[in-house]
Amino acid sequence: MPLLDIRGLKTHFKTDDGWLHAVDGVDLAIDAGETVCVVGESGCGKSVTAKTVMKLIDMPPGKIVAGQVLWQGRDLVPLGPEEMQKIRAKEIAIVFQEPMTSLNPVYTVGAQIAESIRLHEGLSKRDALDRAVEMLKLVNIPTPERRVKDYPHQFSGGMRQRVMIAIALACNPKLLIADEPTTALDVTIQAQILDLMVELKERMGMAIMLITHAMGVVAETAQRVVVMYAGKVVEEASVEDLFARPRHPYTQGLIRSIPRIDTAATHKVRLEAIGGTVPKLIDPAEGCRFADRCKHAMPACRTATPPLVEAKPGHKVACILEAALA
Ligand code: SF4
Ligand code: MG
Repeated sequence: MPLLDIRGLKTHFKTDDGWLHAVDGVDLAIDAGETVCVVGESGCGKSVTAKTVMKLIDMPPGKIVAGQVLWQGRDLVPLGPEEMQKIRAKEIAIVFQEPMTSLNPVYTVGAQIAESIRLHEGLSKRDALDRAVEMLKLVNIPTPERRVKDYPHQFSGGMRQRVMIAIALACNPKLLIADEPTTALDVTIQAQILDLMVELKERMGMAIMLITHAMGVVAETAQRVVVMYAGKVVEEASVEDLFARPRHPYTQGLIRSIPRIDTAATHKVRLEAIGGTVPKLIDPAEGCRFADRCKHAMPACRTATPPLVEAKPGHKVACILEAALA
């Protein structure tokens, strides 16, 4: 049984113009101890999928229209706020892109880490603070005994993200969801944070669901990759397979748009960006949502939505070209 098994999930939002199908039939499973990257352009439904798992969607205007979120076999969709509170942090923790908005500026970071530990594990204040120091040490913050007494603004962006990871891991979750955790940071710091996450994952034996729009991040961290486009999963494969043999035209475009360091250094390379824009997701029509941007598109692509099928073991694709082969 997978640790997390998202099945047929649809999360829609009511707008003045109609229903926005932000997540529209997503299947996604994560095994214990595994690192899965969810990749796609902004607005493809990655964050909404993660927030639905954590039940952090405002309802209304949001609504889980269909599907299940099985956590160790138990569906989280029907759970109320109290039950979800027990699962959040203790079993599944989440880290967002902008740590400054998640940290409270008026409390020391030590107090905030300790608070999270106390809330979930009922430790004394003294013990929780000791644990906070340990957690800062774990995420490689220098002089943690001194730093626990500092406020968020006294940390750099990269150090704040380390603090957020410390808070997330304080209760030893089985799954860490990281939503663009390094996007706001500069490249060197990004690499350090990703390395730290991979290292902690090994040490603590947790699984990671890493959400990113950057294929470079995927290549460095993932074991398995789920590619999303316009609210749907269009491809899923091991990281090796996805980069060596991408099968969906969208994934092929994403991989071609990665700057090649070897050639970029000597020539002015133009990235082959994917032309066109993501379709509007208000009451979308049937058919492949990538059709307007796909150079292989044919009339049949617009009449029915291609299902996600296993093209070969462990490699799934949602494209009519694959369905024709299967
Ligand atoms: Fe392109 Fe058609 Fe495949 Fe969609 S289903 S990716 S439009 S070939
Ligand atoms: Mg997002």
